[in-house]
Parts: sequence; C-alpha cells; structure tokens
Amino acid sequence: MPAFWKEHQLAAEMDTALAAVRQAGLLCREVQAEIDLGALAKDDKSPVTVADFGSQALICCALGKVFPGDPVIGEEDAAVLQEADNAAMLERVVGHVGTHVAGSDAQQVCRWINRGNAKQYSDRFWTLDPIDGTKGFLRGQQYAIALALIVHGRLELAVLGCPNLGTSLAADRSDGTILVAIRGQGTWQMPLIGEAEPVRVSVSPQTDASQIRFCESVEAAHSAHGDSARLAERLAIAAEPARLDSQAKYAIVARGEAEAYLRLPRDNKYREKIWDHGAGVLCVTEAGGRVTDVPGADLDFTLGYRLENNLGVVVSNGPQHEALLRAMADLGIGRFDD
Ligand code: AMP
Ligand code: MG
Repeated sequence: MPAFWKEHQLAAEMDTALAAVRQAGLLCREVQAEIDLGALAKDDKSPVTVADFGSQALICCALGKVFPGDPVIGEEDAAVLQEADNAAMLERVVGHVGTHVAGSDAQQVCRWINRGNAKQYSDRFWTLDPIDGTKGFLRGQQYAIALALIVHGRLELAVLGCPNLGTSLAADRSDGTILVAIRGQGTWQMPLIGEAEPVRVSVSPQTDASQIRFCESVEAAHSAHGDSARLAERLAIAAEPARLDSQAKYAIVARGEAEAYLRLPRDNKYREKIWDHGAGVLCVTEAGGRVTDVPGADLDFTLGYRLENNLGVVVSNGPQHEALLRAMADLGIGRFDD
C-alpha cells in the first residue's frame, strides 16, 4: 500500500471500506456467475435483487462493526424483502451473505441492510450504491459497487469497485478493478481479485475539444443521447460515445481513457441520487478532473439523498470543462420551459 495510506487519519475507514467493497464485489460475481444469460427471462430481475441486497448487507455489516455511529445513505431498504411473498428471495440473500459472514441469519441480514436506509444529511455519513448499473449487471456488462464517506458535506474517501472492468479498457477484465481515492492523496486502482499494489491514475491531458472521447449511459432514459449528439457536433467531436452502465464511466475518465462523462437531464424534475455520484466524483477530482452539473454548479452533497440543487452531471478531465459548459449553454441543453 502507498505510505500515505497507513498514516492517514482515515486509514481505518479506508481499510474497512476497501475490504467491504471487495467482499461485496465477490458476492456480486458469485451471483452473476449463476445467471444463465441465455435462459434469463427478460423480466426476471431476481439475480440483481439478490446481489443488491447481499452487497448492501455485507458493506453495512462491516461499516457497522467499526463505525457504529456512522449513518449510511444507501439505495436499498429491507422492507420489501421482509414481505411474506419474498421469503425465497430473502433465503437466497442470506445464503450468499452467509458465504462471507459465517452464521448470519435472516433477521441479522435485514438489520444490516436497514443500517443503510438513512435519508437525511448529517455531518459525517457514508453513501452506498450496492449495485450501480443494475441493467449492466443483468447484461453481464459494467456495474459498480460505490461507497463514499462525506464529512461536513465534503467527499473525503471513495471506493469504487468495478467487477467487470479491467485495469485498462484493453486489459483482460476477469479480475475486475477497484479504484480508491482519499481527498488530497490522488486516485489509485488495483485489481478486485488478488493482492496487487495500487497504481496511481490520472486524467487525460487532452486540451483539444475536437479530440474529446466521451462516455454516457447505455440507458437513454438516464441521459439525453440526442443532446450529447448535438454537443458532439457543435464541438466537432469525431469519436462515437462509449456507452456503459454505472459509475464505471467515472473510472474511465479518472484514468484518462475518456475526456468526459455526460449525464444530460431529460427534464427539469429528476434529481440525481448521491449514491450514483459520490464515489465517482472523488475518483475523478483526485485524478485531476472536474465535476459540475450542467449549469456549471458544484454538486451539493449536503441536502440528503438527492442532489436537490443540481441538474444533470458533467465530468471532465479539467481542461475541457469550460468548453463543454459553454457549448451546452449555447445549445440550450439543460434549459426547460417549465
Ligand atoms: P447508469 O448506469 O449510468 O445509466 O445509471 C444508473 C442509475 O441511474 C441508477 O442507479 C438510477 O439511480 C439512475 N436513474 C434512474 N432514473 C434516472 C433518470 N430518469 N435520470 C437519470 N438517472 C436515473
Ligand atoms: Mg445506481
């Protein structure tokens, strides 16, 4: 491990978060390995549900042991899982969690999951997306386990596990990747499986707007693809967008494999969830990049589980940020009549 890590005042937080995300990543891979992609009925979301709850249970169990006073604003709540109709599902979750934490029972697993159902802002809390990019998980493509620590509204620590991402886009993806960041200490990555030392990553130095490679959601419902195409035309960007699910997009920008990640609002109403961005934002900013919303404001993590004061998200390597914001403003992207 890099020396700063052991001596940092958040060393215990980093050790705990990293081990927890790694364990959750293994659970997700175990569940995914059971999916027969060919046979999975289109509307059968049960594998992702099992992995989602299992991942949140493991991470909240680990955080609860070491930091019992820390609230966790996570995506899931065990209420649905405790309904009589879902007993079989609960049993599957308990089975998978039990592989990692011996002797866990249904009641305990639900308690761990519900440790992550905080909604309100507090001076120190974690935010967790146990499986970000559920559609990618079901397709056998990209998904992420995203955990961040926020203190006095500021991102201090991030662990972003990407079980289906190699340490570069060209590399073999079978060991997955974890990115970690501590404020002021850079962004580092290592394989999810194995014991390799973390390697520091940084954003692309590209300053020519026409050379921007950008990424965006696979799901058109999550980001306005038409607007990003207009933006690309305006800036004479030749490269086709890379479409991938989850905060893996932040990982790609953090390590210089894309200059931007665009999440362009489709309406005035949707508010981004903090667990979809917290870990990714710190990974990119610590790698030298910049993140704002579409109008150009910083993301405000002090308002509960949603980014109430922000519209869309623009992530860049830094030098390209103003050009992107200006072009979007010129095109009226993010301006709605109602
Ligand atoms: P992605 O994999 O980047 O497409 O993002 C997945 C995330 O999109 C999920 O975790 C949801 O919280 C979030 N999401 C759901 N509906 C919307 C929406 N209308 N606009 C933006 N994000 C959304
Ligand atoms: Mg998500």
